[in-house]
Amino acid sequence: MAKVNENYLKLPGSYLFSEVGKRAAKFQAENPDAKIIRLGIGDVTRPLPQVCIDAMKRAADEMGHVETFRGYGPEQGYSFLREKIADFNYKRRGLEVDADEIFISDGSKCDCGNIQEIFSLDSKIAIADPVYPVYLDTNVMAGRTGDLQGDGHFAGVTYLPCTAENNFSPTPPATKVDMVYLCSPNNPTGTTLNRAALTDWVAYAKDCDAVILFDAAYAAYITEDDVPRSIYEIDGARDVAIEFRSFSKTAGFTGTRCGYIVIPDGLTGTTSTGERVPFKKLWARRHTTKFNGTSYITQRGAEAIYSDEGQAQVKTLISYYLENARIIRESLSAAGLTTYGGVNAPYIWLKTPADIPNSWDFFDVLLRKHHIIGTPGAGFGPCGEGYLRLTSFNSRENTIEACNRLRG
Ligand code: PLP
Repeated sequence: MAKVNENYLKLPGSYLFSEVGKRAAKFQAENPDAKIIRLGIGDVTRPLPQVCIDAMKRAADEMGHVETFRGYGPEQGYSFLREKIADFNYKRRGLEVDADEIFISDGSKCDCGNIQEIFSLDSKIAIADPVYPVYLDTNVMAGRTGDLQGDGHFAGVTYLPCTAENNFSPTPPATKVDMVYLCSPNNPTGTTLNRAALTDWVAYAKDCDAVILFDAAYAAYITEDDVPRSIYEIDGARDVAIEFRSFSKTAGFTGTRCGYIVIPDGLTGTTSTGERVPFKKLWARRHTTKFNGTSYITQRGAEAIYSDEGQAQVKTLISYYLENARIIRESLSAAGLTTYGGVNAPYIWLKTPADIPNSWDFFDVLLRKHHIIGTPGAGFGPCGEGYLRLTSFNSRENTIEACNRLRG
């Protein structure tokens, strides 16, 4: 008899975005003339940088000639891309990351979700609340947690509450864990972990012999000097941290798909008999067994951002979204609302006004009164209740129009 993995049954249905969609569709059907502006989307809307398009066209042409055709590529990624990443994102910033420590993938979601496979099933995990749901859900699927409790938390997980009181910056828990997921700049709060906070985390990880899983998918949006773009800017982080990066929000690759993971050579974990094993060795085994490489055309497109012209085009793209974020932040503040984030991230975390009971009610007010869609914070974890996520991934015109409506 085939038995199912019952851990999957512990997960609630994907209520958040289906409920958002349902409420929006109902409102639109009842109000066909309403021009709804979607500020809930977590997907980019601007076209790819021209350097990427040109590089991918050249790569596609290469595939059309027998002399330059390529079949399966190296699972870890082509060295032309890994060398550029190591140079531009690490060496030029004075950080020690070798091209051999980089693994190219088809995006960060898979990497963030799959990484837990190379850790023991009895590992204790710590996860920020609210946060990008992939870290938690993949650990639930693997059986590393108990059941969902009445308070919206899974048993057996150490939650790191991120609230206005701690400036949405998770701090090390009193208990010891083995794996810690950190996301900076954070989705959904748009807030960051500064140098001092990350230094504390690295010290905690050393103390517990834990590994930090550092998701830097939004690193390109960082504007403030005190916010590290990489965890490896912190002394000693190479001994305790794995880093995730993505081309999705950096260069508009959400539909093109490319990301990577950095696993330093010296990062190790223990076996049940106390032997130390490099995590890189395990990930290399997993990656080569379960993944057959990101397409050559995509990797050439990603490589193209690592040139003067490419960097300038990426900067223009990110500045566009950050300017939208500034417009949203300042307009909402002028309208008397409290906002967080949006300075080093494309996300604005909007506090539900005191006279509105919860984030779903706030969602309904924004939809019905202003014809604007946000994402209720409760969907990202119990500590997200009382907030709503707005994103800057829309056109300038729609962003300004939405802000005018909110102010009006
Ligand atoms: N990490 C965070 C925090 C995200 O918000 C996202 C996407 O929204 C990802 C990772 C996944 O990005 P991708 O799979 O497109 O590289």
